[in-house]
Amino acid sequence: VPELPEMETYRQLLIPRLSGKTITDVIITREKSVNVPADEFIQALRGLQVTGITRRAKHLLFHLMHDKVLVLHLMLGGAMVWGSQEDKPDRTVQVELVFGGESLFFIGLRLGYLHLHTLQAAEALLKKLGPNPIDPSFREADFKTILKKKRGYLKPALVDQSVLAGIGNCYSDEICFAAGILPQRKLESMEEDDYSRLYQGMESVFAEAIAYGGYMDVPLFRGDTLTGGFDSRCRVYDRDGEPCYRCGALVARVDFASKKSYSCPGCQR
Ligand SMILES: [Zn+2]
Repeated sequence: VPELPEMETYRQLLIPRLSGKTITDVIITREKSVNVPADEFIQALRGLQVTGITRRAKHLLFHLMHDKVLVLHLMLGGAMVWGSQEDKPDRTVQVELVFGGESLFFIGLRLGYLHLHTLQAAEALLKKLGPNPIDPSFREADFKTILKKKRGYLKPALVDQSVLAGIGNCYSDEICFAAGILPQRKLESMEEDDYSRLYQGMESVFAEAIAYGGYMDVPLFRGDTLTGGFDSRCRVYDRDGEPCYRCGALVARVDFASKKSYSCPGCQR
């Protein structure tokens, strides 16, 4: 599931391509991917200009004229491709937003969706999400206050979208590794210094992951050299049995609280 850095990469790459462009047509091959009947959805979007793109947690919001918003969640397996008909992915496209000669293709939308809302309705839907961990106004003290209210294992707290918005399976493990703390650590046993290292780990992991374009394996457009650059830079995620870059011990997969989790038993406590 794309997490904060993946959606942030999409946002940054799509803004210069979509801002000010007008949706000339919409093609829907999977009606379940949208929230209103396909013909209504198409009618509502034709002729609307994209006024901006924002991100909230793992959602991307395409802001349109007349206070309309398209709320995207890619969920597991979803991705986007931008380009002309020549660049159309060689697989099923569930939704295509046409902007004259170019299109934004949505692929792999099985659980993922593209929902049309008013701005007000979209904000109400996303209200229950926790703070944006990369917002400059979100400080270490806020981070500590939020996590200290939680009990139990660390990882489930990190991936709880009502606690912090945008962290999922991969980045929770990467953040724990950066901090030298095990994901299965109990929050009750965390000390002041652990929270500080965790916060700093989160900042450094997100900064690096965004700078390297996240881990998506589908390029957004022809010649896209940014998207997916972080995939090979993951330190523990999906690396079980391989040596730790920090201490050489073998990275382990430990499943707990019905989550799979990767960590280094050598240098995480
Ligand atoms: Zn290690």
